[in-house]
Amino acid sequence: MNRTYYGKLIFELSKHGRVGYSLPQCEIKGYQLEDLGATYLRQTEPLLPECDELTVVRHYTNMSNNNFGVDTGFYPLGSCTMKYNPKLNEELCQLPGFNLHPMTPAQYAQGSLKLYDEVQKTLAEIAGLSRFTLNPYAGAHGELTGLMVIRSYHISRGDTQRTKIIVPDSAHGTNPASAAVCGLQIVEVKSLADGTVDVEALKPLLGPDIAGMMMTNPNTLGLFETKIPEIAKLVHECGGLMYYDGANLNPMLGVCRPGDMGFDVMHINLHKTFSTPHGGGGPGSGPVGVRKGLEQFLPNPQVVKGEGCYELHCDDESLGYISFFLGNFGIIIRAYAYLLSLGKENIPLAGKLSVLNANYIKESLRSHYNLPIDTICKHEFVFDGLREEYGGDHHAAEHVTTLDVAKRLLDYGFHAPTIYFPLLFHEAMMIEPTETESKETLDDFIAVMKQIAEEAKADPQLLKTSPHDTPVRRMDDVKAVKEPHFTYK
Ligand SMILES: *Cc1c(COP(=O)(O)O)cnc(C)c1O
Repeated sequence: MNRTYYGKLIFELSKHGRVGYSLPQCEIKGYQLEDLGATYLRQTEPLLPECDELTVVRHYTNMSNNNFGVDTGFYPLGSCTMKYNPKLNEELCQLPGFNLHPMTPAQYAQGSLKLYDEVQKTLAEIAGLSRFTLNPYAGAHGELTGLMVIRSYHISRGDTQRTKIIVPDSAHGTNPASAAVCGLQIVEVKSLADGTVDVEALKPLLGPDIAGMMMTNPNTLGLFETKIPEIAKLVHECGGLMYYDGANLNPMLGVCRPGDMGFDVMHINLHKTFSTPHGGGGPGSGPVGVRKGLEQFLPNPQVVKGEGCYELHCDDESLGYISFFLGNFGIIIRAYAYLLSLGKENIPLAGKLSVLNANYIKESLRSHYNLPIDTICKHEFVFDGLREEYGGDHHAAEHVTTLDVAKRLLDYGFHAPTIYFPLLFHEAMMIEPTETESKETLDDFIAVMKQIAEEAKADPQLLKTSPHDTPVRRMDDVKAVKEPHFTYK
């Protein structure tokens, strides 16, 4: 950060009359601006900053330096898979051949349609399902699409009683939200003390009003749900379908497949597992896959291979359109590049390394942080705050919280983990290192987390007043959401 700007709180850089461009004279012969007439001509000057080019360059460069990203530092944000996204993919998705007008007729878009079809097929292979649509724009949008598939399936059989969906208490918040948007009633099923779904608590919930059950595996505690075959059997016997939240498919890649476990419908987040930069609310992609027999319910249009060429197909039984054209195509290209560059041989390695890295951090830090569920995790795990001897006892009036630890991490140049989620613990801290981090980075993070625990013991105020070295200090989280200021004036 350039402190001569921000240190002196100089933000207004505009100087009246200063320009950073030079435009040629209007070249249309005999044409005067005034010919437009008073209706079309501005009466007042536009309220735009007037700056020279260098000032603009510095302004935006300094702004970007105030941001934290995967390209600036370690970003162990649980449930988000902030892995490294190869820069090559950014170049490939900008190849001019893919830069088509969305209305381009299928016969002139064969290359793009072929790519769409191959990504669709590869995801189906990875998931053990029959067919994917790549049209949804995000994970939550994929959930909604998948639930609409489930609804279309029940309605197609004339079964209109199924208005409820079962969602575990550990589920990502988007699960109940998507179900509600889909018009379904949410029935919560509890987790056992070991963090997995309680099958005995599930049984009494099943009946002729159940449309299906949503599950995340590994669940939001980073644990592999071991009783899925039994759960799937119970849900299927009552006539419901099994929905798999595959937003965090990373640890399963090439190791095991939701389709083989008995799931009927799922979504995948391309912007987590398949290497698209994300985190700023930018474009996403939430492909939805279905098992055999449900393909016709997928959204229109579907890309299908016809007589020697690819076509856009609309099905009468389809749930309809859920997005414009074929979704966020640039992200589909990145996923294609990622899949091809890893190849069938290396895709399982990504999953296995993400699991190894998570377990390495977990075992290295359990001496300092509470580990409520002590078992091998998948790609992520949850601590429940600092251990008592480091000031973390949440029954004590003045204890050091997970928020304090998260804020102090920023001073050391690390992004904070996901905090206070899942809601099953008081001081949840959800850590997901991903497979792309080196052992050196993991060791640095472990050392800093231990250092912070020592600080918490010796000088809790140091943590309570952190961060000390960031462009913005501790914010009022509620005000930041409820009363955001989008301009500086
Ligand atoms: C991220 C995530 C989602 C939602 O994905 P978005 O693209 O943010 O809508 C859903 N479920 C789980 C488990 C997730 O981690």
